[in-house]
Formats: sequence, structure tokens, C-alpha cells
Amino acid sequence: MLAVNEPSFRESVDLMFNRAVRLMDLSPGLENKIRVCNSTYTVRFGVRLRGKIETFTGYRSVHSEHMEPVKGGIRYALSVNQDEVEALAALMTYKCALVETPFGGSKGGLCIDPRAWDEHELEQITRRFAYELIKRDLIHPAQNVPAPDMGTGEREMAWIADQYARMNTTDINAKACVTGKPPHAGGIQGRVEATGRGVQYALREFFRHPEDVARARLSGGLEGKRIIVQGLGNVGYHAARFLSEEDGAKVIAIIERDGALVSAAGLEVEAVKQHLAATGGLQGFAGATFVEQGASVLEEDCDILIPAAMEGVINLSNAHRIRAPLILEAANGPITYGADEILSKKGCVIIPDLYANAGGVTVSYFEWVKNLSHIRFGRMQRRAEEARSRLLVDELERLSADQGLGWRLTADFKDRFLTGSDELALVRSGLDDTMRTAYQSIREVWHARPEVPDLRVAAYMTAIDRVAKTYRSKGL
Ligand code: GLU
Repeated sequence: MLAVNEPSFRESVDLMFNRAVRLMDLSPGLENKIRVCNSTYTVRFGVRLRGKIETFTGYRSVHSEHMEPVKGGIRYALSVNQDEVEALAALMTYKCALVETPFGGSKGGLCIDPRAWDEHELEQITRRFAYELIKRDLIHPAQNVPAPDMGTGEREMAWIADQYARMNTTDINAKACVTGKPPHAGGIQGRVEATGRGVQYALREFFRHPEDVARARLSGGLEGKRIIVQGLGNVGYHAARFLSEEDGAKVIAIIERDGALVSAAGLEVEAVKQHLAATGGLQGFAGATFVEQGASVLEEDCDILIPAAMEGVINLSNAHRIRAPLILEAANGPITYGADEILSKKGCVIIPDLYANAGGVTVSYFEWVKNLSHIRFGRMQRRAEEARSRLLVDELERLSADQGLGWRLTADFKDRFLTGSDELALVRSGLDDTMRTAYQSIREVWHARPEVPDLRVAAYMTAIDRVAKTYRSKGL
């Protein structure tokens, strides 16, 4: 819970924005234009369910249209409200600018407990909400492209895509109206894991810079680092799995709704996820200690803390007790403005949300491009690569024959060399490249001037500068 004297989520984002622009040279007019949220549409609609009419409230907020389409997920949660949707839309603007996806920022939300309805009911509700947004071009391949967020996933995106296609039968680009669709319905491989994968790539890139690692009072690489993860949803689950299974990090605690699991020896993430799916909670998982006061585990000793659940979980009430020297914000806005100040004073290094969780929208961009190009992602490059690889293989074998060397490439090598670029591999390498490049541009700003205190301010400065450049070159 937020302390009473804390600003709202949107105010918190604005305060972070203000801290960055103070170090920049923007005209006050432009500064204000970038900060404000352009518009928020509120809709209340009724759906006949279980014999009576249920009324739902939904939002789609557009923060900045400096580039179009605007982009951002749709969240299903009872806590959704206008302030939250506007904060999240603003974060989308800065996030997209930071990873150079050519989108403005938007976000949507529906006040609903998705667990309270069955699949068929959710489909009716989703289609009706989508209908309201499509009618107002708030879902449109060239203007506004939603994606999954908390409480939504591939299934909801497939319904939205189908609803749009029904209402726009002549739009050849209909599939590009939403991203995060299942692969068989116009989606792309690797979108579901993308945000978690991006978290992994962000941490790998951070640990490639010993100077930055030292600022967090850590040393070495990811191997053996003790990690606490809050939230085993799509983002937290994938991040925790990849970091423990592929980078040798140790997940020493996982926090969920009903409490937390703690194990100094490290948790097997997949097993915990299966227990969670089967029982709805963490309690009863064998081989780890269950702590009922889950939030208190955020304060445990560890090397890296990864809040991957909700905004505002690290706030004025607990920030001074947080011991992690390095925090990666996998959720949007998990640290409030006030908590950020306390943590920074303590020397805690924070890898900020607008960079750390940008993997999702990066792969959304690949999906959108794939839909618009009407060709399997990377197929053109793949054909060109294959042709080049074949030239090389043929040339090697010819040289070997000419010189009587008797060299032979194994069938397995040839196979992998000639066909080793499937869609998933292309998506992952494109994402890796994006996360590396974005980090490098942030750290350049961070290290260039002593007044730039941390990665968050540097990330905001980098993003705001890019948005400002677009406004300056194209006008308002
Ligand atoms: N909801 C995700 C986010 O907060 C993904 C947005 C998108 O792919 O458009 O970044």
C-alpha cells in the first residue's frame, strides 16, 4: 500500500520526468507538451452475463502521438483507473523512444477481475470493449496498436484481432491492429517470453560493464548472484527461469499473492510455476520455506531484486528497509518517486522500467512489421543469408578439391550453417541487439556528466531528447 503522503502513480512518473528535464535544455513549452497526456477515453458498456446486465468501465489513454501508431498494452484488473492508465501510457512513450521503436505511447485498461469470469464470458466482454475502441480508431494498425499487459495475453489479443477484422473486412493490414497474438493467428515466435528475455539481456548487458557493476557494490558476472523475484506472472516467470537456467543465477526467493517461498540453495522456477498453476498459490511447495508476509521478503538480503508484479510496491513505507544493492524494474513503476530518492541516497543502483521491461514492445514491433510486410519475419534476410552461406560452403569444398586437401564439412555443420536462422533466433538476436544498444546510449548519458545521478534520470533524458527531436523536426 502507498503511504498517504505519496504522489499518485502518474504524478510519480511526472516527477521523474521533471528531474530529468531540469538537466536538459528544452523550452518550457515543449517540455510541458511532452509531459502531458494527450487524451484519455473512458467507456462504460454493458454486457448481458449470467442472466443480468453487467456494466464495465474501460480506458484507452494516448500520451504522445509524436509518432504513430501509438502503442501499449491493455490491462485487466480491478484496480485499473484513469491515473494508472495515464502513467502507464506516459511510460510507453519514453520506453518506445528509448529502444527506438517508431511508436507514440498509449495504454488501456478494463476494471475487471479476470478470474471472476469464464473463458466464454471473457470473450464477450473483450469483444465488446474492443468494439468500443475500434469504433473510435483507438485500435487501428496505423493509429493505435494494443498488446497484452497484466491480466491479458495471447487469447485476448486473438479476440481483439478478430473483432477488428470483422469490422474492417477490406483492411489488408488488419492483423497489425494488435500485437501479442498467438503465432498461428498472425503472432510472432518469442513474443510471450519477450519481456522476461529482455530482462535477461538487460542484466547481461549491465554485467558487461564492471564499472557500473561496482557502483552497485557488486563484482563479477551473473553466475551465482542471489536474486529475489516478486511476481511469477509472464514477466517474472520467464526472467527468473532464463536467469537461473541459462546464466547460473540463484533465485533465492519468489514472492506471489499468498506469500513467498525462500530457499538459500535456490528455487527451481519451473517447479514453483507448476505448483502455482495447480494450486493457485505458493503455499505447500516442498523444499522451501513459506513466508506468509510476502512483501517482507522484498527486504531480504540478496544481490538483485526484481519486482515484476505491480506499480508502487517499493514505496515510502518500506524503501529504507530494502537491502538489495541492485534493483531491476521488470514491472512498470514498482518504485515510487519518494522510494527512488531514498534508495538512490543509499547507493542502490536501479535499472529503470522504461529500459528494463522494453523487451515486450520491442518484439511487438517485430510482430507489427511482420504483419505489415505480409511475409514471414526475416524470410528475406534468411534467403539472402542462405545464398551467401551456400556460396561459402561451395567455395570451401571447391578449394579443398582443387588442392587435394580432402577437407569435408560435416553434414550436421552444413545443415546448421545453411538453415540456422529461424524466426525465434532472429527475434532473440534482434531483441538482444536492441537491449545492448539502448543500455549503451543510457550509460553514455549517465557517465558523461556528474550531475546525472543515476540510470533512471539518464534513461528519461535519452528518451525525452528523442521525443523532442521528433517534435522539433516535424512540428507539433
Ligand atoms: N504491456 C507491455 C508494456 O508495458 C507491452 C506493450 C506493447 O507491446 O505494446 O511494455
